[in-house]
Amino acid sequence: QPSAPIPGSGADLVLSGISKHFADFTAVEEMDLTIPSGTFIALLGPSGCGKTTTLRMIAGLEAPTAGTISIGGDDVTKLPSHKRPVNTVFQSYALFPHLSIIDNVAFGLKQKKVRDAMAQAKAGLEMVELAHLANRKPAQLSGGQQQRVALARALVNRPRVLLLDEPLGALDMKLRRQMQVELKKIQMEVGLTFIHVTHDQEEAMTMADVVAVMNQGRIEQMGNPRELYELPRTAFVANFLGKSNLMPGTVVADAGDSVVVDVAGQRMELPKSRAVKTEGQIVLGVRPEKMRIAEVHMQGFEHAGNQLLGTVLDASFTGVSTEYLVEVPGIGTVGTFTQNLGQDPAKPGDEVRMSWEPEYTFGLDREDDLSAG
Ligand code: ATP
Repeated sequence: QPSAPIPGSGADLVLSGISKHFADFTAVEEMDLTIPSGTFIALLGPSGCGKTTTLRMIAGLEAPTAGTISIGGDDVTKLPSHKRPVNTVFQSYALFPHLSIIDNVAFGLKQKKVRDAMAQAKAGLEMVELAHLANRKPAQLSGGQQQRVALARALVNRPRVLLLDEPLGALDMKLRRQMQVELKKIQMEVGLTFIHVTHDQEEAMTMADVVAVMNQGRIEQMGNPRELYELPRTAFVANFLGKSNLMPGTVVADAGDSVVVDVAGQRMELPKSRAVKTEGQIVLGVRPEKMRIAEVHMQGFEHAGNQLLGTVLDASFTGVSTEYLVEVPGIGTVGTFTQNLGQDPAKPGDEVRMSWEPEYTFGLDREDDLSAG
């Protein structure tokens, strides 16, 4: 007879002015973050940017130097870890090797003297589709299965916010992709607030409703994956989430909804709504896949929006596509690619024209470090 599903009840999480100093080092700086109940959010950033420290403060394993944390409207800043409605799944599964899978999942419930601990543990294992392995020991499970046990163990404790610290970090790529899909499915079923720490941009974008990109203790930009990818607001975000061509330029005219930008002698158009700055020294950005490339004398490409002329340095066939590196005088190397449609439009040494619609262009501040991310 099937056990009752684990009822879920997520909670809002609000960080206000949260900072963490270790001696004179600032790991997290005045972070404000509001996560609505039931959201799957990824904290994404390079090693050392403060992701884990943020998670540990939410869990109550680290006290913030300043600021407050509230969960479901209650201020938990001063509450010890075990009194917070949160649970954490770590990269190391931390299962007890001598206990069976089901006893591992039931362990916390038994500690708390929950009456139907075993039935709930069984429901937890059903949720992660491991009920058939309930009597095995952890060592008899694959890495992905062990991680699912760790997830079941966290879920049966009925947290309102589940914290995941690089939970898939130890898995190989194929299993990792599979678990990403499963984890997302489970999150939608239980409806809890999930906060997932990762440095893998593809993982963050695949799984999360909202991605917060962190850099040096701050949230640099937050939004849904598509927004972040299509409209990065800093060079760091543009580079960290995929590839982008960033070209310094100067605004030379106002054209109503857009501005005209001079980039190494070429005039380009930039919609004002896609720019963080619309006067003076700026940076134009465009994603490689938004550009078309054609041999320079090819008919039909002359008037297509923004353009760059250059010489092909390298063309690499990757199966799905061919990637080009093109040397553009006054700008440097620009990357683009074409889908594999049978014939490549250019080869090394060819003079080419790259063009893209102005609405794919984004505008950044010249003050940004263009190599960041
Ligand atoms: P990773 O992906 O490598 O885990 P992260 O983004 O999770 O990185 P944190 O672990 O939050 O980064 O660390 C942020 C910074 O704070 C790092 O520079 C780290 O060295 C420092 N830090 C973390 N914990 C301590 C501590 N207990 N004492 C001193 N410095 C610390």
